[in-house]
Amino acid sequence: MSDANSRFEVVVVGAGPAGLAAAAAAAESGRRTLVLDATPWLGGQIWRGREAKGGSGSAKRWLARLQATDAVVARQTTVVAAPRPGVLLAESPEGPREIGWETLILTIGARELFLPFPGWTLPGVVGIGGLQVLVKGGWPLDGKRIVIAGSGPLLFAAGAEYRAAGADVVLIAEQTDLGKLARFGLSLPRLAPRKITQAAQYQASLLGVPYRPGCWAVSAQGADRLEGVTLRSSRRTWTERCDVLATGFGFLPNLELPRLFGCRTANGAAVVDDRQESSQAGIFIAGEPTGIGGEGRALVEGLIAGFSAAGRLERAGRLEKKRRRAMAFSRAMDRAFALREEVRNLASPETLICRCEDVARRDLEKFGDWRAAKLHTRCGMGPCQGRICGGAVEKLYGWDAASNRPPVFPVQIGTLRDPEPGSRGASK
Ligand SMILES: Cc1cc2nc3c(=O)[nH]c(=O)nc-3n(C[C@H](O)[C@H](O)[C@H](O)COP(=O)(O)OP(=O)(O)OC[C@H]3O[C@@H](n4cnc5c(N)ncnc54)[C@H](O)[C@@H]3O)c2cc1C
Repeated sequence: MSDANSRFEVVVVGAGPAGLAAAAAAAESGRRTLVLDATPWLGGQIWRGREAKGGSGSAKRWLARLQATDAVVARQTTVVAAPRPGVLLAESPEGPREIGWETLILTIGARELFLPFPGWTLPGVVGIGGLQVLVKGGWPLDGKRIVIAGSGPLLFAAGAEYRAAGADVVLIAEQTDLGKLARFGLSLPRLAPRKITQAAQYQASLLGVPYRPGCWAVSAQGADRLEGVTLRSSRRTWTERCDVLATGFGFLPNLELPRLFGCRTANGAAVVDDRQESSQAGIFIAGEPTGIGGEGRALVEGLIAGFSAAGRLERAGRLEKKRRRAMAFSRAMDRAFALREEVRNLASPETLICRCEDVARRDLEKFGDWRAAKLHTRCGMGPCQGRICGGAVEKLYGWDAASNRPPVFPVQIGTLRDPEPGSRGASK
């Protein structure tokens, strides 16, 4: 890790598909490159755990491509602030680190969007992606009755994973209706032909599991923990008995670091040009922070950012067609899985919106914006710093719940007070 204390020509924050591609492209182009990630592994959300198992498919190819370069890798290193121009402050098991950069690439992914409904804080109600993370870490699901209710292609991928881990997947409820899904399916041969094979594989592994479009969870019931979930469709309302309810409505771009650096954002995503450069010169952004588009978009944007950061604009330009196609796929997903009004508004006055600080919906109703609500109720001021309730209040009230105040993650006091004395020289 001592290398992380020096200055690098290119620093890539985040080692998911976008970060691996960006770091590989920059390092292959001869730039002294550092790629760091908050977690102990490479591969981000989708390839989590694959590295330890030797990887497979595209995870294996991209991990090998990065390993073939001289890029320096720093794990368990979380960027929390930018104390001076050209310097990042990161926290790692060895303590705080200052890292100097000439060009910065932010590939920090996305988080799940949760929409509150009565009962959503009961033990047994979990995020769809969050449960995937637990399963990848060895969490046992043997014999558990699971209902998946939410929106987006992740419902299929997660269902297949839960079933492979021994779960009894009782139902997959997709809030979007059949007509929109059919139109999305028809666009796949043109926009993302490889997704057709993937979808067929998921369908095969979910054989026998009911998949209901136009259906959503309205409440979860249980005394001390989840016992059942009430679902609604256009035709009926009924209750399914279950041990686990996995819920989530797609993803929200992580924008803490782009905002910290003053990069322009619009419609909930970072704004970049066709070389992935943000509104701040020398800061590139790739993958989910620029818009939700899955692995394909993350990889192509990562490559473009890496080549552009290394000054190889012509090489980056050759990927433009691929990038456009990936963006068209993102737009098709946005249209297909747009939230129906009913699911935005399921929380009752008693439903907790901020589960860190126990703030109910009725406590928020009297405020006109996020700042006033925060000041009076502490909504969004707990350990998750609004990462969960922020998305919910945006959807409920249209409030901009963005924050760009450092530290962007909770840190030890010593990290802010006492960056390693020897690392001060890392600044630009
Ligand atoms: C919980 C979850 C589960 C998902 N499961 C699937 C799935 O099963 N199938 C699928 O197709 N897609 C899945 N996705 C979507 C998937 O993440 C994207 O399709 C794709 O991986 C995006 O790649 P990325 O490189 O942009 O971001 P990510 O893969 O999310 O990588 C971002 C990386 O940045 C790191 N990071 C963030 N902030 C910091 C910081 N301040 N300092 C240091 N490191 C930081 C994170 O630790 C992470 O490793 C999931 C997403 C989430 C959030």
